[in-house]
Amino acid sequence: MTFHIITLFEDAFSSYLGESIIKRAIEDKKIRIKFYNPRDFSEDKWRRIDQKPYGGGPGMVIQALPVVKAIAKAISKSSTGRASDGAGAKNPTKSTKIIFLSPSGKQFTNDYAKSSAKKYKNIIIVSGRYEGIDARIKKIFKMEDVSVGPFVLTGGELPAMILIDCIARQVKGVLGSAQSLEESRIASPDVYTRPEVFTFKNKKYHVPKILLSGNHAKIEEWRKGRKK
Ligand code: SAM
Repeated sequence: MTFHIITLFEDAFSSYLGESIIKRAIEDKKIRIKFYNPRDFSEDKWRRIDQKPYGGGPGMVIQALPVVKAIAKAISKSSTGRASDGAGAKNPTKSTKIIFLSPSGKQFTNDYAKSSAKKYKNIIIVSGRYEGIDARIKKIFKMEDVSVGPFVLTGGELPAMILIDCIARQVKGVLGSAQSLEESRIASPDVYTRPEVFTFKNKKYHVPKILLSGNHAKIEEWRKGRKK
């Protein structure tokens, strides 16, 4: 699985993707992450990519053409390079999906992550900033508007990392066997570990007795009840 990220701010990704499970998944080549900066495709002398919105209003809008060129580059990197695979600059293969991050898009869910991991080998994620990206890019490429929740962030970098993290968990080999098991069986939102009892400000805090019972059927029942 390769994630192709269209972003003006590649550096925003390094700390999160450079830790723990995702870091290991990249090192083990289970997933790959490539970045494309629209500024690199700007024809402006100063590499400028934003302009005032037509029709007035606050803020700046990212111009279409540098983003179009960045997406075309990502598509060309997604193809196998064979003429017969049908991939052209504007025509991704069936195994390539383009996601346009937007607060008003379709809600991203775990099911969306699961089916994306199953269907696609390349996911191109277009991350906006400022007031967004000139909407004409959607006339050139078939893409799906996706939101990570009913709130507005300053940019698409956090949403892109949410998608990468959640989809990567569904890619075979990214989670260890114990964690994969955790993914498929009933997991409670409340988890406990050692010690069995600890004291804070003179009050004792115990692990629920059922979890110490060794009765796995009853424990699963208990967890079902806890699952929201
Ligand atoms: N005026 C834009 C709108 O209403 O769609 C808001 C732009 S927002 C300040 C800048 C960028 O952050 C968006 O283009 C999008 O890429 C990203 N973004 C912000 N909130 C998001 C969310 N909840 N889900 C996905 N992307 C989001």
